[in-house]
Amino acid sequence: LLILGIESSCDETGVALVRGRGGDAVPTLLAHALHSQIAMHQDYGGVVPELASRDHIRRVLPLTEAVLAEAGQRLADVDVVAYTRGPGLAGALLVGAGVACALGAALDRPVLGVHHLEGHLLSPFLSSDPPEFPFVALLVSGGHTQLMRVDGVGRYEILGETIDDAAGEAFDKSAKLLGLGYPGGPALSRLAEQGDAKAFKLPRPLLHSGDLDFSFAGLKTAVLTQAKKLGDELAARKADLAASTQAAIVEVLVRKTLAAIDQTGMRRVVVAGGVGANRLLREQLDAACAARRVRVHYPELHLCTDNGAMIAMAAAMRLQSGQQQANRNYAFDVKPRWPLDAIAS
Ligand code: ATP
Ligand code: MG
Ligand code: FE
Repeated sequence: LLILGIESSCDETGVALVRGRGGDAVPTLLAHALHSQIAMHQDYGGVVPELASRDHIRRVLPLTEAVLAEAGQRLADVDVVAYTRGPGLAGALLVGAGVACALGAALDRPVLGVHHLEGHLLSPFLSSDPPEFPFVALLVSGGHTQLMRVDGVGRYEILGETIDDAAGEAFDKSAKLLGLGYPGGPALSRLAEQGDAKAFKLPRPLLHSGDLDFSFAGLKTAVLTQAKKLGDELAARKADLAASTQAAIVEVLVRKTLAAIDQTGMRRVVVAGGVGANRLLREQLDAACAARRVRVHYPELHLCTDNGAMIAMAAAMRLQSGQQQANRNYAFDVKPRWPLDAIAS
């Protein structure tokens, strides 16, 4: 079963081809291509939805052609066309959904709308060392921060989530305050390498709340307060403040993940989403989990942020598991807001 996957929920256009192999076998990635709009949005300090939609339209078919060529396949070989149905920017989602359904109708092939977060969640299955169910998942992206119990494809239970900002948002907003541009997560973490993480005392919100929820909105306020207090000294202390910010975010993520492991008794953790690329998070989680003989799985670094491969993979795994059937309903809709547990079985 050859699946074409299209991602266009935000500021990355991603297209990929995945081969489903049936049964429990992990589907294989044949090729994927990505165009990031980061450079285009940078001047505005964030994603401009209208520009994002227009750029997806320009990119999606050339990327599809590139992926087919790389995989040595023709469009007519595609069995199912999958696309990100939500959550995300409505106009951006409509581009991927519209193109996918048009391709499906033209080829007389069924289509499948995929949940973007299920794509992130299952992205570690694209790695050379894929996880096995069940596991605890820490989903840390630009728009979401959740701990989940995952018993199989489509079997998702949310254990805790952020009550305000996402972890990626905490990175991005703090980075913006420090003048590190957009998206600031990777830049802040690079600068933090040269700083002293103990230099500033920053809050660890909800660390001792006794549940698995997160809160990061207060952290950016604390960073702003520190930055203001430093005044002219800020430039010289920026790396220290970046390191302290990163340490605060990572400590909360690690401690809550360990609490989720204790609560569920699981021996496996999966980290997914853009913040899963963070080096300190990987180091600290690996060390804490090794001490407990718990295995941790990550997506490959270049597949932590948005991409088409995870969408094609999620579609393949849903089809193989019988969770969902592709359909010829080309009267598509998108779901800009769509909680992940809404698709749980
Ligand atoms: P969502 O998936 O919730 O809709 P999104 O698609 O925008 O949101 P992702 O693409 O998964 O999110 O991840 C982007 C986020 O990851 C950004 O906030 C970015 O700053 C953050 N990020 C990427 N790399 C790193 C890193 N090395 N350290 C910290 N944060 C990072
Ligand atoms: Mg993005
Ligand atoms: Fe994402």
